[in-house]
This record gives sequence, structure tokens and C-alpha cells, in this order.
Amino acid sequence: MKKLRLGIVGCGIAARDLHYPALKELTDKFEITAVTSRTKEHAENFAKLVGNPIIFDSYEELLSSDIVDAVDLTLPIQLNVPFIEKAIKKGKHVICEKPISTDVETGKKIVELSKQTDKVIYIAENWRHIKKFYLVKKLLDRVNNPVYFRWNIWVGMDEENKYANTKWRQEPKHVGGFLSDGGVHHVAAMRLIFGEIKWVSAFIKKVIDYLGGPDFLTSIFEFENGVLGNYTVSYGINGQDEFEIVGKDKRLKLVENKIIIDNEEFEFEENMGYKEEFEDFYEVVVNNKENELGSPLEALKDLAFFEAAVYSKGNRVDLKTLL
Ligand code: NAP
Repeated sequence: MKKLRLGIVGCGIAARDLHYPALKELTDKFEITAVTSRTKEHAENFAKLVGNPIIFDSYEELLSSDIVDAVDLTLPIQLNVPFIEKAIKKGKHVICEKPISTDVETGKKIVELSKQTDKVIYIAENWRHIKKFYLVKKLLDRVNNPVYFRWNIWVGMDEENKYANTKWRQEPKHVGGFLSDGGVHHVAAMRLIFGEIKWVSAFIKKVIDYLGGPDFLTSIFEFENGVLGNYTVSYGINGQDEFEIVGKDKRLKLVENKIIIDNEEFEFEENMGYKEEFEDFYEVVVNNKENELGSPLEALKDLAFFEAAVYSKGNRVDLKTLL
């Protein structure tokens, strides 16, 4: 089996705690041949962890080497667009962490670039690989005529939280700060289940002083299939998440590791989606599978929800006006 030679760019939390554990299980498909980061010491520590690949002092040097087929970008969001553009210019495939960019306008550049290049641009949205959401979608028929969906998410980051302490999150350059950084996962899951979102009306707030940017959002929105939704999320407040789909005479709830429809329970295998997203990236690059799950346009649509929500101030914003 052909192995993809991967250069990891940015040796922070995502690279160490999320991507490397997945890649460790996929050594038949990937070989980490190069790493680079802004701080050499971080690249050196990461290199030691992953089997001593070549350490490059700069991204440009890594790209100019002939030891990588693809780059894995795990960077502050504002670097995604310029780093993807540079990789494509140098003829490398790209897997890049979500969100696609800081805002919809700049994200569109990547959507356009992906149409023009024969290299793969894969936006890694691991929630598009989480099995329980596909089971919810499959079970949707059992909730006769779903009319309403409600999702309350209480992330509850404390002051020591590792994500809260990254400088680029403390001074966010991406729209809505935590709301879009974490929220694109939630919208990816909602769109996977119900399809496209037509419009959104939202209020956002800054509630927690140690979190950079706004950290609370409450919204009402409508899917193109007519289902109405409420989505409320807080990155600082703790609580029990609630996920419920309401039909005319049945309700579906997602409670911990079970899907419950009235008195029936359905179990599923929990997964985080990181391993699956790398497997999918491999199929897209090596076996020409269609890039559906890492599609830049899908990632742009997830981000558009938050741009609309941030600018809504309670007004209804049609997502098509942004896209
Ligand atoms: P992080 O810990 O701050 O890591 C970012 C890394 O980028 C740091 O190691 C930093 O370098 C490096 N960097 C910054 N500027 C650079 C430059 N000019 N050239 C090369 N490297 C540079 O952030 P993170 O939490 O890993 O987040 C990174 C990305 O992953 C974000 O897009 C985030 O949204 C995403 N993410 C996704 C998930 C998920 O569940 N899918 C979870 C977390 C994060 P130094 O440390 O060397 O200075």
C-alpha cells in the first residue's frame, strides 16, 4: 500500500493530542516525514514523540523539500488561508484543521482554489465522521414529521483549560472567537442530520472574562426542510447538554451514549472521528474518492452560520446572502 509522506505544520494541542494518536494507528497509510512549528523547541519535542522526522526551521523550507506529499496544518485559524495557498503552489496536498478560515469572505478563496487545483484541499471536520450523528439521521424517519430541534451545549471551560490559554484564542482574529472555533463542529453535525440551514437569528454575549471574545450564543434558525431549531452554547458555563428532536407524536433524545425514541433505546459506538478523517483523506488523495466530508464548501457553510449569528443581533440573516 502506498504511504503518504506527511509534514506536520504547527506542533500544538491538536497535533499532539488529536492528530498524532490517530496517525499512530494508521502507519500503513501515513508516515510523518517532516515537522515544523513557530517555536523550534516545540517542533523538537513533537519530533521526539512521533519518531524523529526531519525538523524544518520554516514552513517554506519544508514545502521546498521533496520529502512530503501532503501537509497537515494545525495552526491558529488566521494562518489557514495563506498556508493552504503556499502548499498548493508547491504542489502538496493539504489536510487542514477546521474552521476553513477566520471569515466567509477569505474562506471563499480556498473554495475557489480547491476547484482550480488537482491537489486535494481537505478541511478536517472530525464531527462529520462521528458515527452517532449518522445513526440519528438514520432514525429520523421514526420521528414522524420532525418539526423542531433543540441543542443546548455547556462546554464549561475553566481558567486552566488548555484551549482557553492559547494566545490566538485569547485575542481571536476569527469571527465569534470560541463560537466559531468550537461551533463549526455543532453546525456540521446539524447539517449532516437535517440538511442545509436557510436562515438564523441570534444573540451573542461575552459572559466569562478569562475567555477571549464572545463565549455565549443563543439562536433560532430554520433548515431548508422546514424543521425549526434552537441552538444555545456556552464555552464558560457548565451543565448537562440537551439534544432533542420533536415530531408530531414522537421525540428523539441523544443522552450520553444512547439515542432514545420514546421507550426504545439505540446504542452506538462512540468515536471522535480523527482516525476516520485521516482514513478518508487518504482515500481522497490516493484512490480518488470524492472529497465530500473534507469539502471546503461544506466547511464554509458551517462557518457561515456563525458569521450570520454574530452579525444578526436578533435579526434574521439568510445564509445564502453570505455564501
Ligand atoms: P495551538 O495549541 O496554539 O497550536 C498551534 C500551533 O501552531 C502552535 O504549536 C504554534 O507554534 C504553531 N504556529 C503558530 N504560528 C506558526 C507559524 N507561523 N508557523 C508554524 N507554526 C506556527 O492550537 P490548537 O489548539 O492546536 O489549534 C490548532 C488548530 O486546530 C485550530 O484550527 C483549531 O481550531 C484546531 N483544533 C481542532 C480541534 C478538533 O477537535 N478538531 C481541537 C483543537 C483544535 P509554537 O507552539 O511552536 O509556537
